[in-house]
Parts: sequence; structure tokens; C-alpha cells
Amino acid sequence: MRVLLVEDEPDLGRAIKRTLNREKYIVDLVLDGVEAWHYLDNWTQYTLAIFDWLLPGMSGIELCQRLRQQHNSLPVLILTAKDRMEDKVTGLDAGADDYLVKPFGMAELLARLRALQRRVPQIQPQQLQVGNLTLDYQTHTVCAQDSLGTQQVIVLTAKEFQLLEYFLQHPNQIVTSDQIRNQLWEVNAESVSNVVAAQIRLLRRKLAQSGSDRSIETVHGIGYRFNSTHVSQ
Ligand code: CA
Repeated sequence: MRVLLVEDEPDLGRAIKRTLNREKYIVDLVLDGVEAWHYLDNWTQYTLAIFDWLLPGMSGIELCQRLRQQHNSLPVLILTAKDRMEDKVTGLDAGADDYLVKPFGMAELLARLRALQRRVPQIQPQQLQVGNLTLDYQTHTVCAQDSLGTQQVIVLTAKEFQLLEYFLQHPNQIVTSDQIRNQLWEVNAESVSNVVAAQIRLLRRKLAQSGSDRSIETVHGIGYRFNSTHVSQ
């Protein structure tokens, strides 16, 4: 789940990002509205967006209006210190889905984001099941069913969970390291070489230990492929 967070107060932006990272969201934190629009234009894979109202360059309201003019229904939460009723109406009229007045608690922010996700079930299903693997978005767990029908929970880190989700969304397709990195690592993340390969090794080991017979295959010189059908070992 990738979130675009646009907040020009650096401390608040970093605090929100840390909180969301702990909840397994991938967060691109942007400080001004023009740059945010660039991200929105180039990244179509966001699950949610959080816009501060007052931003340098372009306001959160303008960002929202532009999205809706382009018939982009990305769920948007607006953050603002404004708490007058007419301001809320302006925000919602601009196409925002929800509205949170500063100062707010992180628990409330997370609850609002969960509510937004529930409103768009086509974007965020409750579960994703491919072969014998079931990924549960509510509990952030992954279960593998063995040949006897027993469910085994696989404990994954946040990044392993995101990686497995990506593979389950693209079963039997070849995906490149660059595609994975662009999708699952934050835009400004330090680029560590072989980070994708290293994470895939860890994920493979956990899948194998769980008895899952689905495998992530290396397609030499191109990338990786998750086989959704039984693979004989
Ligand atoms: Ca601001």
C-alpha cells in the first residue's frame, strides 16, 4: 500500500511517515504541492493520499481538484489547522474524501486511513489468495495451506509482506528488479544495490520453511516470476 504524503512541516511529515511505515505503508513524503503533482502524474499506484491544505507551490485543495478533473478517484485525506465549517465544506467540495483538523493524534489518523480503505474495496480487498497462499490485509498475516489442508501462518517483515503482495498481484508474470524497486521502495530511499535480490532470498526461505510449494523463480538476465501453480521440488 503506497501513500503520497504532502506536508510542508518537516517534523510533522516525518512523524506521520514513521507512524505509517510501522503500519506497513510505503510512504513518499513530499514537501510542496508542485512536486506532489509531479509524483501523482508519474505514479499511478498510490492507494491513498494525504494532503496538507496550505502548501508551497500548490495547495492540497488544488491537488485534489486537479485529481478529480482527471477523473482520478484516489482517496484523499486533507490535513489542516482550519476548523471552520465553511472550510470543511470547501475541502469536501474539492473532492477530498475526509478531513482531519490539526493537531490530531496518530491513532485517529490511522483510523481515518483504514476507513478510507474500507470505502474503496475495489482498490483494497480484504484478502488476496493465490494458490495455497492467503494474504490478509486486516491482520497483515500470510497463511500457507499445506497438502493436508492445515493453515500455517508465515511471519513476514513489512518489506517481505509488500514483496509477496506484489508477486501475488502478478502471478506467473516476469517482473524486473527495477519494477519491484520502483513499486516497493520509496522514491527517495537510498538505493542499495541488490536490495531486491536480498529481500527475495529472505522471502523464498520463509516460503520454503512454511512448506509452501509456490516458488519465486529467477529468470536470468530479466527478473523474477512467481509461480502460482504447484512446483515439484
Ligand atoms: Ca502547511
